[in-house]
Amino acid sequence: MLHNIDAEKIGPFGEPMEEAVRSCVHCGFCLAACPTYGELGQEADTPRGRIVLMKEVLEGALEMEEALPHLDACLGCLACEPACPSGVEYRNLISPFRALAEDQRERSIGEKLRRRLVSWTLPHPDRFRVAARMASLARPLASTLPGSMRAMLELLPSSLPRARKLQERYEAQGAHRATVALLSGCAQQVMDPDINMATIEVLTRWGVEVLVPREQTCCGALSWHVGDHRAAKEFARRNLEAFPEVDAVITNAAGCGSGVQEYPLILKGTNDEGRAEELADRVMDISVYLERLGLPGEIPESGQRTTIAYHDACHLANGQSVSSEPRRLLQRIPGVELVELRDAHLCCGSAGTYNIDQPEVAYSLGEQKARAVMRSGAQVVASGNIGCLTQLKMHLVKLNSGIKVRHTVQILRDAITGK
Ligand code: SF4
Ligand code: SF4
Repeated sequence: MLHNIDAEKIGPFGEPMEEAVRSCVHCGFCLAACPTYGELGQEADTPRGRIVLMKEVLEGALEMEEALPHLDACLGCLACEPACPSGVEYRNLISPFRALAEDQRERSIGEKLRRRLVSWTLPHPDRFRVAARMASLARPLASTLPGSMRAMLELLPSSLPRARKLQERYEAQGAHRATVALLSGCAQQVMDPDINMATIEVLTRWGVEVLVPREQTCCGALSWHVGDHRAAKEFARRNLEAFPEVDAVITNAAGCGSGVQEYPLILKGTNDEGRAEELADRVMDISVYLERLGLPGEIPESGQRTTIAYHDACHLANGQSVSSEPRRLLQRIPGVELVELRDAHLCCGSAGTYNIDQPEVAYSLGEQKARAVMRSGAQVVASGNIGCLTQLKMHLVKLNSGIKVRHTVQILRDAITGK
């Protein structure tokens, strides 16, 4: 697309943003892939429309306020990237744009308070646990609260699972095959700490020593995707210090893995850009790592037949191009039949804090995904991201479905251990 963007004036993000705008040929192949086009039905709520809006703001031809409602409605699901024949890297445009916009936009006091509350709690498991316990007391009042507050409360379970304290090191069982470090996540440690325990159990049983660096912090993806560049840089730098030289850095939350892979962009133009690239190269989803490592033996036959629907988390399938590995792992389990979901490419509406920021669209997408799971005939739905798992659980319960919602690695652990 022709443009008059002054990349130098923008700073370190100028070049990748200009490249994303320039490589868009306006063909519209991405429209059908975009969930917000399906929901809102306007050109301005498509990838192509948003690219034009961002281009015009960057050129100075459009006021920021006119573009923001459509850019705020973007899930950041990146479904537009694999759909694009010109290879537009939309992620290099939307998150830097949000970071630039944050310095210029006016937010209401209510919005500022909500953002402050989210950024003070969600990335910090101890604070989030306390906040979630307090919030669960307010659940009976949920129907009387405004949309975003109601959405926050509805996502919380009526009781939180017991907190699990992670050790700094877990020894490999049997012959030592490798040493990895685990990015333990934030909200996931509160909402479903068993996911980390399952990850550690599978890895150690497969001969992998697991380190859990104590100094690690939130990956910063939540901050980055809502335009808080300062916080995202701070989290990224702390993790660059925290993770040692190991064979791989393992993530079991799609959003975190994709977030670390964006460190080179977050730290672009700083002295840490090279180190960010090194860490981004070493970070890997648990499903990819296990597939590369290979099964050390057969998974025992349980005698049960289970139909599993696999839901692609956007930041795994689109953000990291990982979709076949988790499916192959599940198919290795004797008795498992894997089924595909209708409109599988559509986001479930969780998307970081989107549930809170855009509750109506998030709710509609979540309900559609839960209905697709129910139509699939599956007894279990698997995914690789805590946000998706929480969203699916909430909507399946609302629809009175008894379908179980599990992380891929929990299903694998249960099959290996015979639980
Ligand atoms: S498919 Fe790619 S090139 Fe075509 S309009 Fe969408 S972003 Fe632009
Ligand atoms: S990131 Fe998702 S919601 Fe945003 S433009 Fe791309 S496909 Fe649409």
